[in-house]
Amino acid sequence: MREKAEDPYVSLGICSRCHKGILGTQYKMCAECREKKAKVEAKRLARETPEQAEARKERVRTRYYMNKSSGICVKCGKRNAVCGTVLCNRCLAKRRSCEKSTSQREYREDKGLCIICGRPAVSGRKHCEEHLKMLRKTVANAASHIDYTKHPWIIDNKHIFEN
Ligand SMILES: [Zn+2]
Ligand SMILES: [Zn+2]
Ligand SMILES: [Zn+2]
Repeated sequence: MREKAEDPYVSLGICSRCHKGILGTQYKMCAECREKKAKVEAKRLARETPEQAEARKERVRTRYYMNKSSGICVKCGKRNAVCGTVLCNRCLAKRRSCEKSTSQREYREDKGLCIICGRPAVSGRKHCEEHLKMLRKTVANAASHIDYTKHPWIIDNKHIFEN
C-alpha cells in the first residue's frame, strides 16, 4: 500500500468524498459521508455470523500481538517499531503531526501566516497568495453543485471571495 499524497480538498478542509461537506479536525470525510460509510459497514457486519465476527476479531488481535512481539509496527505492519513503542517512525510522525496540526493552525492564524503553508498571509486573510488562489479554484469547483447562500463552509470562508 503506497501512502497517498494529501488530498487537496482535505488540506482545504473539504470532504474528500463528496467535495461538498465540511471537515472536522481529524477526519478526511464530512459527517454525512462518514455516516453513509458507517451504514454500509454496519450492513456488512450485520450479515456476518457470530463465528465470522469472532474470527475477524481474532485475526486483528493475532496480527497485533504477532507484530508487537516481533518488534514490527502494529499500525502499518511494514517497518520496525521504534524501541519502546509499538509504532514505526512513520506512524509515530503521523500521529504527532495529527496532534500538532490544530495548535499549528492557531499559531499561524495568530501570527498572520498562511494556515496551510506558514508563509505570510495576504493581509486580513488566513492564507497566502498561492493558497488563496487554490482555494478559490477548489471552491469554484465545489460551488457548481452547492448552494452558495446556505453552505456553512462558504459562509465561514467568505474572506476567500472578497477581494
Ligand atoms: Zn462528504
Ligand atoms: Zn508503521
Ligand atoms: Zn499558503
